[in-house]
Amino acid sequence: MSFSNLDQLYRSVIMDHYKRPHNHGTLDGEDAIIVSMNNPSCGDKIQVSIRLDGDTITDVKFMGRGCAISQSSASMMTEAIKGLSIKDAHNLTFDFSELVQGREHDDNLDLGDAEALQGVAQYPARIKCATLAWKALEKGLRECEHEHHHSR
Ligand code: ZN
Repeated sequence: MSFSNLDQLYRSVIMDHYKRPHNHGTLDGEDAIIVSMNNPSCGDKIQVSIRLDGDTITDVKFMGRGCAISQSSASMMTEAIKGLSIKDAHNLTFDFSELVQGREHDDNLDLGDAEALQGVAQYPARIKCATLAWKALEKGLRECEHEHHHSR
């Protein structure tokens, strides 16, 4: 496959997630962790809600507004991390962040459709768009680790 075909494939995966986002909405219930984050440089807003069972992310949803990169990345993130342990989700988030910055990343980790965002590395201004939802996820996971710690 030539580079331009691959580029087109990635673009259509991104637009697909943007137009028909997966896991769109807000989780309810007292056990849902809800985190919001903004990316002022582009005007993107993302809210991520997470439900855990012990160390496992059993459910995740997102809501938001903004550019195609930020919203599609959020949709891809929910798909990639659902069912993972907190530790695996941290590893995947790190891997994704390396990918979109054009750095060496671990090919053994399964980023799913989020691989389609690797072209963002060529547009440094958009990296914050791509990582916004993943940062919100990290913040949410940190908050709940903190709470768990306190309740023990
Ligand atoms: Zn953006």
